Amino acid sequence: MRLIDLYQTLRAHFGPLHGPDAHSPWWPLFGADAHFEIIVGAVLVQQTRWETVEAAVRRLLDASRLAPPAMAAAAPEELAALIRPAAFHTQKAAGLIAIARHICARHGGDTAAMLTMPTPELRAELLGLPRIGPETCDVIMLYAGGHPVFVVDEYTRRLFDRLGSQASGAGSRGPEQMSFWRKSSYEAVRLVIEADLTTPTPESRLLTSIYADFHAQINEACVRYCLSRPRCDGPPARRVYSAQAGRESYLASDEGCPLRGVCAWYQQGDKLTG
Ligand code: SF4
Repeated sequence: MRLIDLYQTLRAHFGPLHGPDAHSPWWPLFGADAHFEIIVGAVLVQQTRWETVEAAVRRLLDASRLAPPAMAAAAPEELAALIRPAAFHTQKAAGLIAIARHICARHGGDTAAMLTMPTPELRAELLGLPRIGPETCDVIMLYAGGHPVFVVDEYTRRLFDRLGSQASGAGSRGPEQMSFWRKSSYEAVRLVIEADLTTPTPESRLLTSIYADFHAQINEACVRYCLSRPRCDGPPARRVYSAQAGRESYLASDEGCPLRGVCAWYQQGDKLTG
């Protein structure tokens, strides 16, 4: 199965999750300063559940801190209290203040202007900021900046690893290579996925749209079904998202993971229903 077919299977099941067709906003949640909100959310979500991120972003918005100048002027203790209980809230508060100050000093506080930089230059600049590694960097570039880069996260590795050769991308990797998704570097995995999704080459705008929604679909599959103890035959895990209530709408009639028919792990009989 090509990755584009895998994407279409997920999208047929969950519906569009990100983009103009989505029934509720996947990201940004609130949109007052959409570009900066995504940067803040991308930092907060590190080792943190999305529900906690939603609540923290809401508190930052209510405290009028969700904009680069306002966050740059915040005291670290105040910011840490606002984003708690996000993991590493003290370090994240310091990092967010440094990022906000960078945007103010280098881009006049205009996050959108920073994001219009060419992809290689933007990636280099973002990776030079605190709390921003390759995954967070690509999240920001894709969702805030609209750059065509695929985000590789733990969910991507877990799902593709379990799907095995059925989701092997452009190459036909045999069973002995199934740990590719787990053991390869971030860049290696990203490039394999992008190579598969860009054959044949779609226009850049469409590619960005596919990358953004596909990543959302993978996340949805992994929080509903493909958990560390998979719920292959259902029922899907229920999570409550305060700003994304529409994401729950499909659950009423849903029973099992839509990928069972193409999942090597499931077909090998290793499943553990939750
Ligand atoms: S069938 Fe099970 S193991 Fe395979 S992707 Fe779905 S939840 Fe994960």
